[in-house]
Amino acid sequence: MNITQRKRILVTGGAGFLGSHLCQRLLHDGHEVICLDNFYSSSKDNILHLLDQPHFELLRHDVCVPLFVEVDEIYNLACPASPPHYQHDPVQTTKTSVLGAINMLGLAKRCKAKILQASTSEVYGDPQVHPQPEGYWGHVNPNGIRACYDEGKRCAETLFFDYHRQHGLRIKIARLFNTYGPNMHPNDGRVVSNFIVQALEGSPITLYGDGNQTRSFCFVSDLVEALVRLMDSPDDFTGPVNLGNPGEFTIRELAEKVIAQTGSKSELVFRPLPHDDPKQRQPDITLARSRLGWEPTIPLDQGLQKTIPYFAALLDKGLY
Ligand code: UDP
Repeated sequence: MNITQRKRILVTGGAGFLGSHLCQRLLHDGHEVICLDNFYSSSKDNILHLLDQPHFELLRHDVCVPLFVEVDEIYNLACPASPPHYQHDPVQTTKTSVLGAINMLGLAKRCKAKILQASTSEVYGDPQVHPQPEGYWGHVNPNGIRACYDEGKRCAETLFFDYHRQHGLRIKIARLFNTYGPNMHPNDGRVVSNFIVQALEGSPITLYGDGNQTRSFCFVSDLVEALVRLMDSPDDFTGPVNLGNPGEFTIRELAEKVIAQTGSKSELVFRPLPHDDPKQRQPDITLARSRLGWEPTIPLDQGLQKTIPYFAALLDKGLY
C-alpha cells in the first residue's frame, strides 16, 4: 500500500473480541490503527501481539468522554455485548451506546471521517418476523432487562441517521448477529463460550429454558470481512445491513455439536430462561449479498473446530 492509500482508522472497543480481530485485519491491510478501549469487558491479552507494531496505537479511554484525535475512518464497536456484562451496569450500557455515539459522531463531523456503527440484531427484540430483514422495525420491550442494550443501540442508529441527514455525515450501520471465535472472553456468559468451557471442563452444559430457542452463529473472520466491505462500500449505501450467518440452530443442537467435537462427557442441565430472551433469530442477508457481495464462508462445525483450541489453550495455561 502506498502512503496515500493508508488511512488513519479509529476502532472503539478495539481490545474486545470483535475489535481485536478488526484491528489486526486493518493493520494487515496496511492502515494506521488507533485502538480505543476502557477495558470494561475486554482484555489487553487480545491485542498484546499488536502492541509492537509501529502503526498500532492503544488508548485507554471511555467513549462516554469526548475524544480529540485526527482520523479518516471510525469503527464504533465500544459497548459490552454479552447479556450478563451489559446487564451488570445497565445505566452505563445505555450511556456507552448513546453518549458514545454522540461523541464519535461529533469526532467524525469535525474530522469529516466516515463512521461505521456496530448495531445489533437486538434491535429486532423478540422478533415476530422470521428471518429478520432490515425493514422490520422489531419487537422490543422498552423497559425490560435487555432494553439498556437494545434501546441504546436503537438510539445510536437514530443519532447516526440524524447526523447523516442533518450534517451530511458518511455513515454505515451494520446489524451484527451472534458472532463467535477465538478472543471471546471465557467468562462473558455467552452461549458459545459457556458451552465450550463447560464441555472442556466436563461440567454440566447449562441450557436456559428448553433449549429450543434458536440463534444463527457467524464465525468472526467472516464478520470482519463484512465490516471492512461495508466501510469501503459507496457513500450512498448507509445500511442498516444485517451481517450474520443465516445457518440457524437450536441451542440444544449447539450443545450437542460442542459435546461431539470436544468428546466431552458433560451432561445437559436445564436452567430458567432469562427474561425477554428472544425465541428465534436468523438474519436475512439478501442486502449484504447484493450490496457487499458478501456471504459467510465458515459453517458452524468448522468455526467450532477453530474456536475450541483457543479455549483449550486458555484452560491449559490456567488463564481461566
Ligand atoms: N444460553 C444458554 N446457556 C448458556 C448461555 C446462553 O442456553 O449458558 C442461551 C440464551 O438463553 C440464549 C442463547 O443461548 O437463548 C444465546 O445467548 P447469548 O447470551 O450467547 O446471546 P443472545 O443472543 O441471547 O444475546
